[in-house]
Amino acid sequence: MLQPAIITIDGPAASGKSTLGALLAKQLGYTYFDTGVLYRALTYLALAQGIAPDDVPALVRLAEQMNAHVEPPTLEDGRQYTVTADGQDITWAIREPEVERHVSAVSAHPAVRTALREQQRVIGRRGRVVMVGRDIGNVVMPDADFKIFLLASAEERARRRHHELISQGREASFEQVFEDLRRRDALDAQNTLQPADAYIVNSDGLSPADIVGKLCAVLEQRTRG
Ligand code: C5P
Repeated sequence: MLQPAIITIDGPAASGKSTLGALLAKQLGYTYFDTGVLYRALTYLALAQGIAPDDVPALVRLAEQMNAHVEPPTLEDGRQYTVTADGQDITWAIREPEVERHVSAVSAHPAVRTALREQQRVIGRRGRVVMVGRDIGNVVMPDADFKIFLLASAEERARRRHHELISQGREASFEQVFEDLRRRDALDAQNTLQPADAYIVNSDGLSPADIVGKLCAVLEQRTRG
């Protein structure tokens, strides 16, 4: 089967993009690239260096100099990949609540997005890649061959995120998780873009394996048709 070189998956927080993206990439033998990692790495480094989330010139400088890499997992501790910045393993550090609290504010600055966009394109242009994010199909890789937009209700997304946190041994009430998610939705809204030519999937009640099956069928149909 003739396969698309670039597949994008966009959608709101906790819509299942990462699980689905990783699974689809594995199925196709493609690279999986979670672009949220770059925004999180930048936020982590900014916090570590005492740069305020509204100090745009400093954030842009940091984004341009940032030496962040995503590699296959170097440890078997539940990670999908290993993230390093200047040689330091920051895979779990970028998932900490402190980063989660500030990442949307950092990501909202257009100049920051411009600085990180080129880094995403360098990886995307290598092809045979599943790229996951918010604005990938619309802004970062508008020429992508197959664009997916993943939807899920706020309740379902909060349930998933809550379950994820609890299974990591963290304390979190459902109400707090729901509230944090809605806050992040509001901040991310402007940059969460549904491409006009996207294949839309509502993941409510569907397992990642169900969705991958559905997507592979669509891909096969498109390449045949
Ligand atoms: O996808 P994830 O939750 O890891 O992304 C973290 C944050 O990074 C998002 O809430 C959003 O603010 C930002 N982001 C973005 N554009 C992307 C990917 C992530 O603005 N393509």
